[in-house]
Amino acid sequence: MEISQSIGCWWRGLQLWYNDQDYMQAIDAWEEAMSFISWANDELFVDMSLKNSAIQERKYLTLDGDAALLSELSPLLLFLAGCYLDAQEYQKARVTLRRCLALTSFDAERDSTTNKRDLFHRTVRECIFCVEEDPECLEPWVEARELVQYAIEVNQQLEQERLGEISEANSVPWSDPWQRPGFLYPIKNQDSVYDRLRHPSWCRLLEEKWGDIRNEFDRLIHRPGGARTLSTSPRHWPAVGSGEHRGGAGAHDGSVVAPGGDWREVVIFGSGENPRLAPCTSELLEQTCPDAVSLARQGGGEIVFSVLASGTHIRPHCGSTNLRLTAHLGLVIPENDEDHKRCSIRVADQWLDWEEGKIIVFDDSFEHEVINERSTLRGVLLLRFWHPNLPKEERGIALQKALDAKSDDELQRYSPPSPSNDGVMMLRAMEKSRCISCSRHGYSSIRLNTRSLTFECQCGQSIDS
Ligand SMILES: [Zn+2]
Repeated sequence: MEISQSIGCWWRGLQLWYNDQDYMQAIDAWEEAMSFISWANDELFVDMSLKNSAIQERKYLTLDGDAALLSELSPLLLFLAGCYLDAQEYQKARVTLRRCLALTSFDAERDSTTNKRDLFHRTVRECIFCVEEDPECLEPWVEARELVQYAIEVNQQLEQERLGEISEANSVPWSDPWQRPGFLYPIKNQDSVYDRLRHPSWCRLLEEKWGDIRNEFDRLIHRPGGARTLSTSPRHWPAVGSGEHRGGAGAHDGSVVAPGGDWREVVIFGSGENPRLAPCTSELLEQTCPDAVSLARQGGGEIVFSVLASGTHIRPHCGSTNLRLTAHLGLVIPENDEDHKRCSIRVADQWLDWEEGKIIVFDDSFEHEVINERSTLRGVLLLRFWHPNLPKEERGIALQKALDAKSDDELQRYSPPSPSNDGVMMLRAMEKSRCISCSRHGYSSIRLNTRSLTFECQCGQSIDS
């Protein structure tokens, strides 16, 4: 039977991965595992979004054998897709994810246990990652929005069918296709944009002192006449996403700048900070919004001078978490000189304009894009601050959860799942347990016993408790 041949190859791949550390051969074995299944013809799926093609794939899946057995393959499919993404093989990743999405959404509908639904959510997140990384995907945000919409619909269907059985922890994390950060924490009454009446009180104080901040900003530009006279960015400011000035942090941010654009920053508080560059501004910030300063120092945000050269477009994307909000204090905003050219920011479905000396507040976990088509540079003071609807006593726990989720994601990429669905082995692989005999830990300590098909520590101790 085809499924049992697949499972045999799966075990062989695990032996190659854990015992021989021959990762390329392991991936070959898993590719072979998938070749025993009668998948639909890939040519049917040209020019279709991941979501639509996955729904199509469900029609073509041959579930003649035992559907439950076939669904056992979905953790392996998800892992294999991650390998392809690591190797930047986007076409293979897309095909694999389409199948995985078809299987896991089907499974979530059949069987609403936490495991099945969690696998479906993880698959949706991997699909989003795939479209965002694939350079041939021209509008990844459109596909990402559709994927989240699909996840929400599957979830709603489940809730209707099994009314009352689904706990909040078990449902999809998303409730709005516009809001899809890497880590989404349940926060009440979230909004994409916050009007002036809902600004924190320190916003007024910063607005009153904006002239002092602007003077310091101008001095940092090193140019007579200040920023107003520039169309390009100051060359001595680091580019966002260069990864150098922030100790590697924010390295991903630069990839959202459309070709030809130029986005630079000076960090006042946060990783790679230099508050002495702007002594007056940093003192003012410490006095008026200590919350934002402390968030930056805990690694949950940053306060920066941010400049966007003429002709820059920051493509639609979502921030990494919803634990914080973002404020922009307008410092240098180019005038609407000709042909109604645009200098504005879109958050969800709303376009906002900056004003010098005025603050706008938005949630960057919602899809947003920024555009400066005008002839001079745009400069703002950007601050992240704790989401006001997140209870103070939950801040530390929530930030820790966000960091843990990120490291779990990374560890999962190097921990191939087992057909025996051995949860104890996965705990070891994910650095969450140690050998009781030699205290080795992590996936590199794992060996497969090929006779009994069980996992052992490198020292011979069985991994089952
Ligand atoms: Zn051991």
